[in-house]
Amino acid sequence: MKLILLGPPGAGKGTQAANIVNAYEAVHISTGDIFRKNIKENTDLGKKAKEYMDKGLLVPDELVVELVADRLEQDDVKDGFLLDGFPRTVNQAQALDKVLESLNGKIYKVINIQVDKNNLVERAVGRRICKKCGATYHISFNPSKSEGICDVCEGELYQRTDDVEETVAKRIQVYLDETQPLIDYYTKSGTIVTINGDQDISKVFNDIKLALGSED
Ligand code: ADP
Ligand code: ADP
Ligand code: ZN
Repeated sequence: MKLILLGPPGAGKGTQAANIVNAYEAVHISTGDIFRKNIKENTDLGKKAKEYMDKGLLVPDELVVELVADRLEQDDVKDGFLLDGFPRTVNQAQALDKVLESLNGKIYKVINIQVDKNNLVERAVGRRICKKCGATYHISFNPSKSEGICDVCEGELYQRTDDVEETVAKRIQVYLDETQPLIDYYTKSGTIVTINGDQDISKVFNDIKLALGSED
């Protein structure tokens, strides 16, 4: 399965990506996760990306495209991948099409998770992530059993530095300006399915499964 998850910050892309890779054969590729790993390890890429991420801005295309292109050339993604948070600009989408054409062909599906703007800030601000395994929780909508501790691995939960109200608002605006045009881009190529993300996590996943059918 070759899949792209599209949606504003806080829509539930990461949460559904975890569900999808559990049920289907696909490798989860999250550019946000890759940047956060680089920040943690204090790499040059991490230092550069952090400047933009902390302001709620997109990391420049030239830093992202090559990273994803290299990742897609690796062996483990031959049978399927799930892109989460990439592409985020029309320029990135065009670059991705070129990369896929040069690999196994440009066939993929886009799942667009739509969520009312008013719910996005609350979702992002209440998000908590496990330091150890990356599992995602929400303080109200999807709390861990024990506060601050991961259900899966007992790791400590933390809040992303960009998940504060002002930065989230900026990220939503950046999404509207730079990423939302991708809905048009993919509608023209006929591969996009829009899912109502304003439902319980399990209901959203059900709709995604219906959209994917028996695909493998
Ligand atoms: P994204 O990757 O699109 O930014 P996440 O999957 O990290 O979004 O979800 C953002 C926050 O909202 C997380 O705290 C997550 O637990 C919560 N969340 C995800 N899906 C839903 C949903 N359908 N209803 C309520 N909260 C949700
Ligand atoms: P969210 O899940 O809330 O949408 P991500 O974890 O996907 O957030 O991304 C966090 C930040 O990382 C973004 O605000 C942006 O600065 C940077 N980033 C991630 N993916 C990309 C991308 N494809 N292009 C540019 N910047 C990106
Ligand atoms: Zn964990």
